[in-house]
Amino acid sequence: VGTRRVAASVLHLDLDAFFASVEQRDKPSLRGKPVVVGGVGQRGVVATASYEARVFGVRSAMPAHEARRRCPHAAFLAGRFDSYREASCKVMGTLRALSPLVEPLSLDEAFVDLLAAVRPIDFSVSGLQALVSELKAEVVAVTDGLTASVGVGSSKFIAKVASELNKPDGICIVEPGSEIELLRPMSVSVIPGVGPVTLDKLRRIGILTVADLQRVPLTELVQIVGRAHGQALVDFAYARDDRSIEPEREAKSISVEDTFETDLVDQRRLVSILDRDARQVAARLREAHLFARTVTIKVRLHDFVTHTRSRTLLGATDRAELISKIATTLLAGLDTGGGVRLLGVGVAGLTDVLQENLFGSEMENQWEADSATQEQSPDASPAPTMLAQPPANWPPGLDVIHDSHGRGWVWGSGLGRVTVRFETMDTGPGPVRTFDAGDPTLRPYRRL
Ligand SMILES: [Mg+2]
Repeated sequence: VGTRRVAASVLHLDLDAFFASVEQRDKPSLRGKPVVVGGVGQRGVVATASYEARVFGVRSAMPAHEARRRCPHAAFLAGRFDSYREASCKVMGTLRALSPLVEPLSLDEAFVDLLAAVRPIDFSVSGLQALVSELKAEVVAVTDGLTASVGVGSSKFIAKVASELNKPDGICIVEPGSEIELLRPMSVSVIPGVGPVTLDKLRRIGILTVADLQRVPLTELVQIVGRAHGQALVDFAYARDDRSIEPEREAKSISVEDTFETDLVDQRRLVSILDRDARQVAARLREAHLFARTVTIKVRLHDFVTHTRSRTLLGATDRAELISKIATTLLAGLDTGGGVRLLGVGVAGLTDVLQENLFGSEMENQWEADSATQEQSPDASPAPTMLAQPPANWPPGLDVIHDSHGRGWVWGSGLGRVTVRFETMDTGPGPVRTFDAGDPTLRPYRRL
């Protein structure tokens, strides 16, 4: 439980067009050009569009075919999770050096509690301006050039609203006492928990802006959205938000598991149990008003060897269907033919912010990091091993290395050919060359 703050002591940092910016950093020929990460293939959705692509109306969560129609000349890249995670770790480390109370919301976003800062902070507007300028410069330095937008305010809500205001590369300090005025002209969609359904309900009774919400009698609001949600909306409309910054939230998890009297072999039965467990987990997430980024299954086989498999999404969800689908996919990767003694579904990486729109129907496969552990016996400690999966094809944007041309990235592939642009972060824009897709002198490149 948090407390009402008198100073603007919550900082929210959000990297600008994060995935696309990492791509432009590492691929000099794409700097200043429209870049779309995600939306590779016809059924995917856009994860991030560079600002140059946004000019053409390309947005996150937009279907790929729509993005291609609006900006056919953009570079459409499959995304490189390791590079994004590496940059994210550096930024989170920079934030933790400022204050140990950091709550990451996703790879590119975090709250920082400045009341817990390791050095004394000047909470005046000019003091905070100086602090944020310095922080942003550090982020640029540790990430080799990525920019962030930062908001500072008296609550999580205000800090997050503020970081959006001067994007990209922006700073916005909201002076305590000015929050309600700041919010008044904004759409009610800025309020946490106001998604399309609530937005539509509110619109039908004429509530479009936060000012409208400030005016409406609570009794009327409660009839439309229910008591708890109605009260929460009014609290946010008046900038009453005492949610605390919770760095430990990452470690928390929710899980449901079953042990069976006899080993279960029937695959359909296993899938239906997994689905039921996933629904229970999702229900508990919704009760707690939380969303999860990681889905885990635990499977103990007939020989008592216990396997865990997990999948981390780049967004967060509380959707039973999605959790169930991921759990089922993870199960399919295990040989359960000899029978299963225990089956469980869990979620971790919990956050109170919904970021589900990153992944559409087919994008999940490209937007996750998988990990697997296996215990030799029920009592043994787990031995983590990462699944090293070689790429099945040459996804656009992939880092490659060629025996004589050096490092580059996949510009495009098809019909048994792969075209590579040879350049890196440290070179200028480089030349393009085409190879046979099976050419042994060309390989995916991984930093060690
Ligand atoms: Mg961002």
